[in-house]
Amino acid sequence: MEILVTNDDGIFAPGLWRLARELKQAARVTVVAPDREQSGLGTAVTLRHPLRVQKVKPLVADVEAYSVDGTPTDSVILALGKLLRDKVDLVVSGINSGPNLGDDVLISGTVGAALMGYLHGFPALAVSVASLDEQYLDSAARLAALLAKNLAHLSTPTSPFFNINLPSLSLPEIRGIKFTRLASRSHIDTVEEGHDGRKAYYWLVRQKIERDAAKDTDIWAIDKGYISITPLHTELLNQPPPRIDDGLGNRLLKELKES
Ligand code: MN
Repeated sequence: MEILVTNDDGIFAPGLWRLARELKQAARVTVVAPDREQSGLGTAVTLRHPLRVQKVKPLVADVEAYSVDGTPTDSVILALGKLLRDKVDLVVSGINSGPNLGDDVLISGTVGAALMGYLHGFPALAVSVASLDEQYLDSAARLAALLAKNLAHLSTPTSPFFNINLPSLSLPEIRGIKFTRLASRSHIDTVEEGHDGRKAYYWLVRQKIERDAAKDTDIWAIDKGYISITPLHTELLNQPPPRIDDGLGNRLLKELKES
């Protein structure tokens, strides 16, 4: 199995390497990621200037790694089109430091990179942890590896494209795994104005709306202490959710807690 690992937090983000370290136990892993943080860029593609790719020293042995001076999506396009020449079985993006839930998935670079993998016809996972604390990265990496191993059981009409979020909880505290749909209107955009002494400047700030999310949505699941897996391909195509075996969530959680 050949897995492309990417992210939007940049090539040196800890979440990227926890993921690479875990996935390489069962697959050949190639890391292709932006050379700096590129959060919030969604599916942005660089078309107006050339891109440079640099082979970098991997932080995990036996992994090939390349940095790209572009967006997360650029990294995936370059990886699939040039570096790996479509010899990929799965694209995994993350592990993002911070959640990607509800309508935020539309601006998320983590999800954007996975979406590009999916649009090229490959199974794709976007993985985020609803915490800035690095201690939760290991559970997320192990879950991604478990899902990679179980891809064949996730029977879906197209290649699977899953947005995965883990709550800010230790593994024993996690209540379960829920297959969810996207919550709507999770954030509002606000503009904060300041003055640098010469000119006005503006910060665009995304603020979370505190409201009760509908049951079965991703935000609801995270708030209640569950891992959320949202099949985004069905949301995109407005199809009914895939028939995911009821026992699968329980089995994955059991395996995750035992691993
Ligand atoms: Mn990010």
